[in-house]
Amino acid sequence: MTVSFGDSQALGRIMTVEGLAGGSCPFNCVYCTVAHPPPTTRRRRVADAHAVGALLDVAREKAGALDHLVIGGGGDPLLWTGIGDFLRRVHTRYAVPLAVLTPGPLLSRGAIRDAMEPVDVVMVKLDAGLHRLMQAVNRPHRGVRFDRLVESLGRFAAAFDGALWAQTRPIPGVNDGIGEMTRLATALRGISPAKVIVAGLVPGGWGTRSEKQRISLGEIQVLEIPDGTASSGSAVMGADGSAQKISFQGCWRI
Ligand code: SF4
Repeated sequence: MTVSFGDSQALGRIMTVEGLAGGSCPFNCVYCTVAHPPPTTRRRRVADAHAVGALLDVAREKAGALDHLVIGGGGDPLLWTGIGDFLRRVHTRYAVPLAVLTPGPLLSRGAIRDAMEPVDVVMVKLDAGLHRLMQAVNRPHRGVRFDRLVESLGRFAAAFDGALWAQTRPIPGVNDGIGEMTRLATALRGISPAKVIVAGLVPGGWGTRSEKQRISLGEIQVLEIPDGTASSGSAVMGADGSAQKISFQGCWRI
């Protein structure tokens, strides 16, 4: 588990807590930079809430003024059984807007949706507009079905008091063809997130396609964050409070 602070294009000045579920994730994305066990939807008590709290207190002092406290990266934080209590506690203690980064399948569970109550922004991943492509790109746990995922994210977006954002990563030759992106746009319009972040955009990617190929997301705001220009980490602290080398947001661009 690490805590880092730095600047994000999408969320401003942030402090980020990564690896709360020990790297476990329902996905195993082809572009993942995190070493983690096989995809799982089983929740576990991994992080020690007291140790996380103590580290956060130290980091909070060093981080200065914050726009968001970000929970996620390095796996799916919703797989940590302590996430609900943790979110309530940091919401009360720090009075800083909360953002949670999650691939999304766990949001189909009522208890998890309830745990998102203090959260201001939930960001999910959607890289494909059909099951076969999601299997190729995200290689999810066998229990994750594309139609059910899209439906549950749509229901969550409609009921959530905060903002649901979606992040998508075009992969050249895999999910960035006109047909694949049209299907993805249809799924995104069905979910109706407040914002879509197109991450790691390559030349000729979504937003820079010719007029003929441009795909509309209607009212949904689109933010493009190319690789290498997304966020800058100014410090990363390990579980013992010591400073470590800077590394930031292995699997998200924010
Ligand atoms: S990139 Fe993120 S969502 Fe995908 S497998 Fe890695 S940790 Fe999970």
